Order: sequence, then structure tokens, then C-alpha cells
Amino acid sequence: MNIQWYPGHMTKTRRMIAEQIKNVDAVCEILDARIPVSSRNPDVDELTAGKPRLVVLNRVDQADKASTDRWAAYFRAKGYAVLESDAKSGQGTARFAVAVRELLSEKIRAYEAKGQNRVIRVMILGIPNVGKSTFINRIAGRKTAKTEDRPGVTRSKQWVPIDRNLELLDTPGILWPKFEDQSVGLNLAFTGAVKDDILDTETLGCHLMAYLGTHYSDELAAAYKLSGIPERAAEENDVAWGYRLLEVAGKKRGFLISGGEVDTERMAKILLDEFRGGKLGRFTLEMPEEQRRSDCGPLDL
Ligand code: GDP
Repeated sequence: MNIQWYPGHMTKTRRMIAEQIKNVDAVCEILDARIPVSSRNPDVDELTAGKPRLVVLNRVDQADKASTDRWAAYFRAKGYAVLESDAKSGQGTARFAVAVRELLSEKIRAYEAKGQNRVIRVMILGIPNVGKSTFINRIAGRKTAKTEDRPGVTRSKQWVPIDRNLELLDTPGILWPKFEDQSVGLNLAFTGAVKDDILDTETLGCHLMAYLGTHYSDELAAAYKLSGIPERAAEENDVAWGYRLLEVAGKKRGFLISGGEVDTERMAKILLDEFRGGKLGRFTLEMPEEQRRSDCGPLDL
């Protein structure tokens, strides 16, 4: 798999974060609740060291609720404030200012004790497609951030006022995820964060089927009206088993090509479309317990 990414943009963004970090009181990282690890740039830890952190688990409407609860506990245990949000509908976003003030309560109290009324500044970070612009527009209460990030379009840094003494620093440039292992690349492709044309749809569909078949077999069976999910044979890898699941689901849908074969390519496309459109249900693609699974080899799809 050849994922295009842009080291030049990344370098600029890193530089900007390093320059601006001293001007902010806290850092807010927006993550996709379905893929909280894959949608995170691990360099952020080092670049923002020492600053209080707020993690926004966005897209909670698309993620499985029990897993979101576990992820929230996971990030809280690391000392981060956590906010769960569905920026599209606005659910949870109103708590942003409260969460920031809670996170910085000691600092705010110290300012107040000195009679200072300082503006609190928060740097917002997020990889493309997590819903950063939608989230910012929600909390700013108007259209400020643009809702499409295009590589090649460099935005200038912008301060976005939220209320009388809270401002956001929306990061210019684009923060890219790290395609360190295969599961990250797959997760970003499943959720549509990286474009389809760089991947073979059928292989991607096999991987997604295998994941859903393993973790969400009941939901998968219900979504495709299957009486059950075929068992995985001991020697079957994700692609082989996922392919069989595509065949079963495709057959049920009547996606046949000449000779009675199932059009697995078409089924894979439908699966991905329906997954991204939230039509299959709510799924989380990585769990706190299995973070950085050791079986993830180098990115080679
Ligand atoms: P950005 O690239 O991170 O700035 O992402 P955008 O804000 O442009 O959002 C990308 C797409 O995801 C848009 O179609 C949004 O409407 C949608 N979106 C953003 N947040 C959410 C969310 O919490 N739930 C759902 N279902 N969709 C969302």
C-alpha cells in the first residue's frame, strides 16, 4: 500500500506547534472515537510535553458506546481530561469550555487570587477527517474553521474566540497520522480518513469483514441478515476469512456475476460505504486492551 503523505506539511506543522506551545495554556487533541490510537499523531506527546491535555473523543455516535467508555477511562488514567462529542449533531460540544476550565482550575484560581483576568488559550490539534473543523465551528458557535482540509492549502494560524476569556488556536497546516503499522493504515482507510484509490477495495473489505466478524459478529450477521457468521478456520488469515464473509454477505444481497460467482468487489465497496455511512451500526476498531498489537507488521497491504 502506498499511502501518500506529506512530510513537508508535517515539518511545518511540527515547527508551528513547537513555536506556539508557549503561548497556550492547554492542548486539545481531537481523536476519532472509533480509532483513538490510529487517529492520533504520537509526536504530539513530545511536542506538547508538560501542557495540560484535553482529549476529545469525537464521532461517538459512530463508535460503540462500551468501547468509548473504556477509552475515556484509559485517557483519564493517563491524566488527560476527556470530552466525548458528536460534533455533527453538537452532542457533548457544549461541555468544552467547562472541561477546559476544570482542567486548568488551579491556574485559573491562581490568576483570580492575583486579581488577573487572563484569557485562557487552547491549542487544537487533529489529523484530517476527525471532525476538527466541525467541532471548532460548534464550539465557536459560528462558521470559522473551514470544513475541508486539502493538502497543499496552507492555512495561517487563527485564534478563535469561544467566550470572553477562552480562545482556541486552530493549527495551520496538517497534522498527519503515523502509518507505523498495518493496522493504522487499515483503520484510516476503513473510516475514510485516507482515500480509497490508494488501496485495493476488495482487500480492504476483507480486512474490515474479518475485524467485524471477530469483534461484532452478531451485529454483522444482523446487518446482512445472515443466520450466522461462518467459523474461521485455524489456518485462515484475515484476508482469507474476510473474503469468505464477503462471499456470504454478497450472496445474500444477490451480488452475482456470470457463472454464479459472488461479486466480492461490489460487496466490499458496499461494506465500506455502509460502514462509513454508519448504516451497519456503531463500531470501534481498536480497543485499549490491545493497543499496539505485536502482530502488526510493517505497512504492506
Ligand atoms: P476535519 O478534516 O477534521 O476538519 O473534519 P470535518 O470537520 O471536515 O468533518 C469531516 C466529515 O465528518 C464532515 O462530513 C462532518 O460532518 C463529519 N463529522 C464531523 N464530526 C462528526 C461526528 O462527531 N459524527 C459524525 N457522524 N460525523 C461527523
